[in-house]
Amino acid sequence: MHDEHSPQADWDLETLAIRAGHQRSHEQEHGEPIFPTSSFVYGSAAEAARKFGGEEPGNIYSRFTNPTVRTFEQRLAAMEGGERCVATSSGMSAILSTALALLKAGDEIVASRSLFGSTVSLFDKYLGKLGITTRYVELSNLDAWEAAITPATKLLFAETPSNPLSEIVDIAALAEIAHRYDALLAIDNCFLTPALQTPLTLGADLVIHSATKYLDGQGRAIGGAVVGRDKELEELFGVVRTCGPCMSPFNAWIFTKGLETLNLRMRAHCDNALTLARWLDQHPAVTRVHFSGLEDHPQHSLAARQQNGFGAVLGFEVKGGREAAWSVIDATQMLSITGNLGDVKSTITHPGTTTHGRLSDEQKAIAGISENLIRVSVGLESMDDIRGDLARGLDALA
Ligand SMILES: *Cc1c(COP(=O)(O)O)cnc(C)c1O
Repeated sequence: MHDEHSPQADWDLETLAIRAGHQRSHEQEHGEPIFPTSSFVYGSAAEAARKFGGEEPGNIYSRFTNPTVRTFEQRLAAMEGGERCVATSSGMSAILSTALALLKAGDEIVASRSLFGSTVSLFDKYLGKLGITTRYVELSNLDAWEAAITPATKLLFAETPSNPLSEIVDIAALAEIAHRYDALLAIDNCFLTPALQTPLTLGADLVIHSATKYLDGQGRAIGGAVVGRDKELEELFGVVRTCGPCMSPFNAWIFTKGLETLNLRMRAHCDNALTLARWLDQHPAVTRVHFSGLEDHPQHSLAARQQNGFGAVLGFEVKGGREAAWSVIDATQMLSITGNLGDVKSTITHPGTTTHGRLSDEQKAIAGISENLIRVSVGLESMDDIRGDLARGLDALA
């Protein structure tokens, strides 16, 4: 039997990205089909009763399951090394669903300080309303994580590497701490993707994605996912099925096709970013580059050990203050001035007044978000064109 379409334990990541999760229909299609249907029909009243009663597996309604969404879920689960994946309508609803599935009033989260802005709002404003409190610690400081844990702590939550300063936490060590206190560790793996980092294989319990970023990679759709063990994912599936932040079949199809080129894209993103970081590092108008791929980054060796690449989001500081940073951004003609990242198109932003603008001056100082800091998400245009676009403003400052 030619059974190449079920995930196979011995397939490499590159193969899983292209072939895992596709169950060919009786039409014998070669590419993954889209099933844009809200509901499914039954051959008889008895079959409907069995499916509703859970005695027989099968699709009922696309808020519960959909074959196109399942293909994406199985492919991403295989790539992350997880037992199961649940796809969601966005990265934020992936995080919300995780919290609703695992936490209740009185529980506590310990999280890294340098999280995505909406994640902080979700934790403080909305989970806070439900009686779930969050403490923030410095990402790379394992002692600070441990000191923040109390008997009520149920979840540790980190983004590594951080945005935009490229700080890193030792995932295996953090997982060990979490488990010693009977807490779970969730890693937002948005910046590296399974092509460059698989937190579950390092001991994390859950991986969270904004599929909107590199999984799609071409800025076409909003989506998210959570990957982990059956036990926790069954709870999460219940939340998504009941509360409704499910992924649409069309978006799932886009993300499934995105995964097929993920490995190649991430390698090319990494190559461009490292080249750019090295060039910025020697530019006279640049005072500092934050990128774990540079040998003098304080966590370079941890990054090299834990990751299969250094990613493609980097921060750099220019001579001067906000005005100087803005002049470099405004001198670009090709780079997109936007807070988005993880796209084939390079993007540039001033974190202090955009992505991190909600922070107080004191919080910015603690987080290292200075007025002269610029963030670039390095895309796949030619290096000459990316460098040329940045050189215009930087040369004027030098
Ligand atoms: C974008 C992003 C999110 C939120 O994802 P959406 O798809 O925009 O809801 C969460 N975490 C990180 C690290 C992100 O970059």
